[in-house]
Amino acid sequence: MSGPGDLAGVARCVLCGKPAVTRVRDPDRHLCDDHFIQFFEEGVLRTITAGKMVRPGDRIAIALSGGKDSTALLLVLTRLLPAWDDVHPVAITIDEGIAGYRQETLRAARELTSRHKIEHHIVSFEELFNRDLDQILVGREQRACTICGILRKKALVVAAERYGATKIATGHNLDDEAQSVLMNALRGDLPRLIRNAAREKPGFLLRIKPLCLTPEREIALYLMLRDAWTELPECPYTRFALRAEVRGMLSTLEYRHPGTMLHLIDAKKKIERYCAGVPGPSVIRRCQECGDPCSGEFCQVCRLRHSLG
Ligand code: SF4
Ligand code: ZN
Repeated sequence: MSGPGDLAGVARCVLCGKPAVTRVRDPDRHLCDDHFIQFFEEGVLRTITAGKMVRPGDRIAIALSGGKDSTALLLVLTRLLPAWDDVHPVAITIDEGIAGYRQETLRAARELTSRHKIEHHIVSFEELFNRDLDQILVGREQRACTICGILRKKALVVAAERYGATKIATGHNLDDEAQSVLMNALRGDLPRLIRNAAREKPGFLLRIKPLCLTPEREIALYLMLRDAWTELPECPYTRFALRAEVRGMLSTLEYRHPGTMLHLIDAKKKIERYCAGVPGPSVIRRCQECGDPCSGEFCQVCRLRHSLG
C-alpha cells in the first residue's frame, strides 16, 4: 500500500511532498534536500545546546583537516554560531607532512575558508617538532596513527592558543565515536573512555564535538547537497590503523542491526555516569620537561619524544 510518502513509487518528503533525497530515523521518514539540510543542522544545534558546548564570547578553533567531517563542521558552524552573541570561528589546519595526501587537503581547506571568509591558519609539524610525520615514521609505520594523533593534538592546542581560541571544535562524527568506544574496549583501555569525556578542566583547552551524534552517511549527503563534496586522497597510513578494521566491522553491524553505534555511545555514557563519583587527580600536574598540564610526570608528547630519540 502506498502513502503520501511514496506517491507513484517515488518517495516524497513527508513535510513538503517534493521528491525525497533520503530516509532518516527517529522518526523514520523521507525528506527532500531542503528539509534534510534543516534536519541535519537542527540535530547539530541540539547536540551543541544539550552539551553546553558554546558560550557567548567564545572564539572557536575549528580543526579543519580539509576532509569531509571537518568541512561539514565548518559549514554547519558558520550557519549556527551567529545564534550566540559575540562567538567567532577561526579555522586551523595542521600540516603533518604526509606526502601525496596533505597537499590536496590543504588546498581544499584554503578554498573552503576563503569561500566562506573564515580566518584560517596552517601550522606544521615541521615548525613545531622540527620534522614532518613522514620523517618521524620511518621504521615506525605500524604506530603511525598513535604518533600522529598525539602530535596533532598538541599542535592543535598550540595553534588554538596562538590564535586566541577559547575552545577547539573537531569533526568527530557518530561513527568515529562508536569506533573509539569499541577500540578502547578491544585494547582493554576502559579508563580512556572516561578520560576522553569533554569536560572543563583547569589548564586544558576544552574540545567540543558538535557532530558526535551525526552519522557519517548524513555528513556525506549534507556535503553533496551543499555542493561541497570533493574526492580527496586517503592518508597512506590508514592501512596500518586498527580503526580501519573496526570501521568495516561496525558499518556491517550497523547495516544489519540499525542502532548499534548509538548503543555503543550509550554504553560509554553509562560507564561515565557509574564513574562520576570516582575521584580523579584533584591537582593538575605540570610536565617536568615542557610545563604543559598533564596527569603524570611527563606529558604524552614529551614521553613520545623520549621514545623516538
Ligand atoms: Fe594521522 Fe593516521 Fe589520520 Fe593518517 S590516518 S592523518 S597517520 S591519524
Ligand atoms: Zn521537504
